[in-house]
Order: sequence, then C-alpha cells, then structure tokens
Amino acid sequence: MLPRKVAWTTTGRGSMERLVERQSPEDDLERVVDVLARSRSLLFITGAGISADSGLPTYRGIGGLYNAEHPEEGFPIEEILSGEMLRWRPELTWKYLGQIEQAARGARFNRGHEVIAEMESCFERVWTLTQNIDGLHRQAGARNVLEIHGTLHDLICMQCRWQQTVADYSGLKMPPQCPECQAIVRPRVVLFGETLPSETVERFYGELDAGFDAVFSIGTTSVFPYIAGPVEVAHRCGWATIEINPTPTRVSHLVDIKLSMRAAEAMDAIWSRYRARRRS
Ligand SMILES: [Zn+2]
Repeated sequence: MLPRKVAWTTTGRGSMERLVERQSPEDDLERVVDVLARSRSLLFITGAGISADSGLPTYRGIGGLYNAEHPEEGFPIEEILSGEMLRWRPELTWKYLGQIEQAARGARFNRGHEVIAEMESCFERVWTLTQNIDGLHRQAGARNVLEIHGTLHDLICMQCRWQQTVADYSGLKMPPQCPECQAIVRPRVVLFGETLPSETVERFYGELDAGFDAVFSIGTTSVFPYIAGPVEVAHRCGWATIEINPTPTRVSHLVDIKLSMRAAEAMDAIWSRYRARRRS
C-alpha cells in the first residue's frame, strides 16, 4: 500500500526523521462496508488463498494445487495431471490426485468461506466462482457456488454413467475402478489440457450478464483469463471491485479497493463492521 503522506521533520538534535503516515487498513475496510451497504448483488471469485487459511497448501496447477517442478517420475506435473496421462498411465495421475486429496483431507472451512455463505441469506443475489476443488465453500453452507475446476469428491466412470460422491479417498484402491464396468474412475476435476465444464461456464456467464453491484477477487493471482476477465468486465461496467490478497496480482491495478490481507481475516473484519453498522 502506498503511503498517503510523507512528512520530513527536524528533531531537536538536528537529525532528520522520516514520518510516514500510511492509509489505514481501517479506512479501506470501511470503504468495503460502504460498498456492501449499497449493494444487492455480489460476486466472489476465489482461489487457493482462501483455502490456505484452512491449512491447504497453495500449490500451482489444477485448482492451484501442485507445486513440484520435476516429480520423481521425470514428467512435468502438467503432464502427470493431464487428461492424456490419466488415459495412458492412470496409476501415475492417480498417485498425484491422491496426494492432493491427502493434503486437503480433514480440512475445515474457515471464516472466509463462512462469511460468504452467510452473505447468501443477507443479499438478493450472491454467487461464488471458485477455482478450488476442495469443496470448502459448499461445506461452509454456500449454495450458489460454481466450481469452475470441478471437485475432487465427485468420482465418475470414464466409460459408463457410474458416479459417486465420496467424503475422501481413504478406502479407494488405486487407481480406482468402476464397480459396474471395471473401467478407470476419475474425479470430476479439470485436468491440464482439458476444457472447462461447459454447463458451469454457461451458468457463470449468464449470471455475469445479469450484472453485479460488487465483485470481490479473493486469494487468487488471476492468471487464468476466465478469472481475471470478470474483474475487467466489472471495472468497465462501473461495478465496485474489491481485491483481497496479501500480494499484488494481475488485477490489482483494476480494483477500486485493495485489501492486502488474508482472506479469513479480511472477510471477518468486513462482516463484523457491516453488521455493527446495520445494528446502529
Ligand atoms: Zn463404469
């Protein structure tokens, strides 16, 4: 955050002392509350940063979920976690899917997820577009969630119509096979080289066409065009834009308000101020 005022003063002993008065994060939080106070529809775009507050690692890769440059098998992770590798060597792709699931297993939603879920019942229209495949938004009780990269917990057969939702991968024999036709089963996630789920994409653009009063980008570096795009649309259309991320991102220059905070802390601070204002 840039200092708002920089003042130089001379102390009694003649040395110069630099006094930097920073724009208070409190001011920014109050500005977000102002936005909420005049909003009826909200869009949240979330990434790995919101799950990091639940203890999940912020990997890159699918759903921001893998970081190793050269896994032991000698393939780049983008190849291992690709649709092509899943068909060619399912045991290899499944080994890493299993590790991703293991890292997320037992994770519980945090205050960030919870506040978004609570907002669904306090505003006319609230949607969440998430890149996360951990299911924590739904676990927190949010209903209007578009999981653009799918979810680890929905398993589908690659041959027949068999499908099942599982709480975790414990008890799965790797690579898991369909109980109906014995073909390999896969999670309903978007692997490298695969297209986004068209129904989810269409639903999202339908909601975006309807417009939003405010768009929040939370815990995502916005590297994908379909994640940065809605913030650009909001900026062009004059909808309020807010970013919550401890570091600068590809959309930071576009947003009206940038909170350099972690997701759970920021959402809790915003929500408690908003509710306090409503009570007064
Ligand atoms: Zn099957």
